[in-house]
Amino acid sequence: MHILIIGAGTGGLALAHALKQAGIAVSVYERDTAPNADQGGYRVGISPAGSRALKACVPASNYQLFVATCARPPRCFNMLTEQFSEVLCLELDGEAVDLMDGEKNVIRKTLRQVLLRGLEDDVFFGKRFVSYAQNPDGSVTARFADGTDATGNVLVGADGSGSPVRNQLLPDARLEDTGIVSLGGKLPMTAESKALLTDRMFHGMSLIMAPRGFGGIVHSLEFAQNRANADIARRWPDFAEALDDDSIGWGLWGARQNFPADPSTLNGEDLRRLALELTRDWHPHMRRLIEMTEPAMVQYIGVRTSVPPPPWESCNVTLLGDAIHTMTPGRGAGANTALRDAALLGRLLIEASRGERSLLQAIHDYEAEMLRYSAEAVRESKKQMSAADLIHKPVIGGLQLAAMRGVMRIINAVPPFKRRLLQNMMRVRGAN
Ligand SMILES: Cc1cc2nc3c(=O)[nH]c(=O)nc-3n(C[C@H](O)[C@H](O)[C@H](O)COP(=O)(O)OP(=O)(O)OC[C@H]3O[C@@H](n4cnc5c(N)ncnc54)[C@H](O)[C@@H]3O)c2cc1C
Repeated sequence: MHILIIGAGTGGLALAHALKQAGIAVSVYERDTAPNADQGGYRVGISPAGSRALKACVPASNYQLFVATCARPPRCFNMLTEQFSEVLCLELDGEAVDLMDGEKNVIRKTLRQVLLRGLEDDVFFGKRFVSYAQNPDGSVTARFADGTDATGNVLVGADGSGSPVRNQLLPDARLEDTGIVSLGGKLPMTAESKALLTDRMFHGMSLIMAPRGFGGIVHSLEFAQNRANADIARRWPDFAEALDDDSIGWGLWGARQNFPADPSTLNGEDLRRLALELTRDWHPHMRRLIEMTEPAMVQYIGVRTSVPPPPWESCNVTLLGDAIHTMTPGRGAGANTALRDAALLGRLLIEASRGERSLLQAIHDYEAEMLRYSAEAVRESKKQMSAADLIHKPVIGGLQLAAMRGVMRIINAVPPFKRRLLQNMMRVRGAN
């Protein structure tokens, strides 16, 4: 069996490891021209379920390197007002704080380098997928923009939210603009920037609920201690290029109609100015974090989500990750769901290679299960980030914000409610 994977992102590379470890031939085709072309410096939160899925796919040495390159684990999820007063604090315990398998923060480009290790001969860069053709003998041929092609038994589109594989397989599947726009930035962790965070903000991840539906996030990323404990310099001396320095990340989002300017056309300097304007009534420390961010490190992201596709008949072409279920970052579930897909599809394709089920049955079973859990993740992520929500309106939005904060404060005072809320969050991030 030979599996073709389009896209060397989180899900595609995890799947490639799972198949390779089982002795199945796998080739990954990536449009980036080089392994380090992905400069995505943003943080991705990997849940305990995401870690489990990753562990099920990759060799133990890759998993150890992954753990070593993550930031110190967060100890709590905080919800704050825009004045940094506490609404809710969910302390993590049990599995969530386990050093190997608990909640983790990793930088996207570092995760890619971790996942590329061991696949040096199986990943082909500079291969922009253009189209596929299903052949009479049951095989499938992928065609690339450089005029080359490749043939295998199965083609997996792991090519992200703009997926050309999806566009050909499911021409009616579509993405929807949520109307939410987002700005984000990152600054070095220094004594001065660290002093702007409360103790709980420093040790956890903080979501900010502000008026008019504006939201924010602040997270601190400390890598140095983890790396020293894992002895990364001695065990993986060639890995230095992929490593990030300690930093503080922030994000802001709101409905496009409430933004004074369209951020999609602005440069870093203007985006930073816009972020300061949006936070003019926020805690001065939030504004200082924004002021201290280099303009080149401020970015804009338009938030899209997928519309559940109409049912289709399974064949030798399938999809995983953002290619089939793009979701808003509202629940931190996109990468976790892509990893879950990779573990599930990998297991079923391995069973097919052993003759335990037919190839088509394996793909069908994967798609049925993947569509079930991803639909919930897409739906719940959209609930957090939709410009149609009343929270973005002037008067009624204020009432809704007050009610939400009131409910959160009640939950904060009742431990069983807090546990239930945390369980719900984790379910959407793969724990169901
Ligand atoms: C700012 C931000 C923060 C996020 N935070 C979180 C978080 O905390 N937790 C979480 O779970 N998720 C998070 N996500 C979402 C997460 O990054 C994605 O859901 C995840 O990367 C999806 O993985 P994937 O493998 O499906 O696609 P990707 O990782 O996007 O990989 C797709 C790959 O396909 C390649 N490709 C595209 N087109 C072609 C083509 N034509 N030919 C060949 N290759 C192609 C791309 O170059 C890319 O390498 C965040 C996203 C953003 C933007």
